[in-house]
Amino acid sequence: FRPLRYKAETRGRVARSTRERVLLRCLFDMRLVHNVYDSFEDAIGNTPLIKLRRASERTGCNIYGKAEFMEPGGSVKDRAALYLLTDAEKRGTLKLGSIVVEGTAGNTGIGLTLLGNSRGYRTVIVIPETQSEEKKEFLRSCGAELVQVPAAPYRNPNNYVRLSERLAKELGAFWANQFDNPANRRAHEETTGPEIWDQLDGHIDAFNCAVGTGGTLAGVSAFLRAKNPGIKIALTDPQGAALVRYYQCGELVSVGDSITEGIGQSRITGNLEGFVPDMSFEISDAEALQAAYDVVRHEGLHIGLSSGINIAGAIRVAESLGPGHTIVTILCDGGSRYQKKMFQPSFLEQKKLPIPTWLSDSMKPDL
Ligand code: PMP
Repeated sequence: FRPLRYKAETRGRVARSTRERVLLRCLFDMRLVHNVYDSFEDAIGNTPLIKLRRASERTGCNIYGKAEFMEPGGSVKDRAALYLLTDAEKRGTLKLGSIVVEGTAGNTGIGLTLLGNSRGYRTVIVIPETQSEEKKEFLRSCGAELVQVPAAPYRNPNNYVRLSERLAKELGAFWANQFDNPANRRAHEETTGPEIWDQLDGHIDAFNCAVGTGGTLAGVSAFLRAKNPGIKIALTDPQGAALVRYYQCGELVSVGDSITEGIGQSRITGNLEGFVPDMSFEISDAEALQAAYDVVRHEGLHIGLSSGINIAGAIRVAESLGPGHTIVTILCDGGSRYQKKMFQPSFLEQKKLPIPTWLSDSMKPDL
């Protein structure tokens, strides 16, 4: 396209330098087209938007999932990790050899560790013991130093986030503080939101997702609402999660015991300040599992349980808006991070959750 326009518009001497410029531009574009990058960091973002066929057919809407499980570190948190570190570097807080400390359910830790490896930082990750072994093993295999703590609410000083803050002080390290650091939300306002808008040419009626730090929901919403104030924003969180109640009746109390990881926030984080959703829905683990198994088995998308919450939530949003609308949600990470939980019949049985026949059949000895 560009070379053709060049031919029609340019001639002679000036044309030669223009030709060079056009040629260079084309070569540069070719690199982008063929996804050639100087570093893995450049591969963060620009994930595909995938139509969720069955959810769309069932509701008469177009429901899309942003495939964040395809990020280099395997989750939506790569974007936040990139912004948290780059922001600290710009402020002069980090230099070669610095230590980065963070309290995380795992995914932000993975992003920070991979980026830390490529930028020359040591990473110390404080993680609740209850998080999946797969994420912990992955972190160890990246070289992260793991500090495991018993799960405790935020008001407890030994809560993983609060402990990570103290540890960072003791070590003279940089505390990434994804929950209250606005660089997290900015990552989604400046990348995830614009990508979704461009991918659909602005044809989007609603966006929904669950909240861990709130960076994704508040950041994407800020961008989409600035583009079109009529877009509906929905919080879709696990059953009993505090935030749904908070936005529905002002009461910030958690009564849930969901098996989902990385979501179900119990306070208004810095990233959520000033944010209010148009609607909010509670999704049970059984409903989220069903939504996740559905796309694994029928659409070839092997996703984790927060993505199941998001898909089930998108279906609720679609049902409340009615047919003909376009809804986007986030496929936060991949199912391999929860192999021994949501894909393990004995774990599901112990949690009194339904076990699909295909899953128990597939666990039988190989033919
Ligand atoms: N899903 C998973 C699997 C996560 O790890 C997280 C982040 N903890 C989220 C969803 C929520 O993302 P955010 O922190 O942007 O709210």
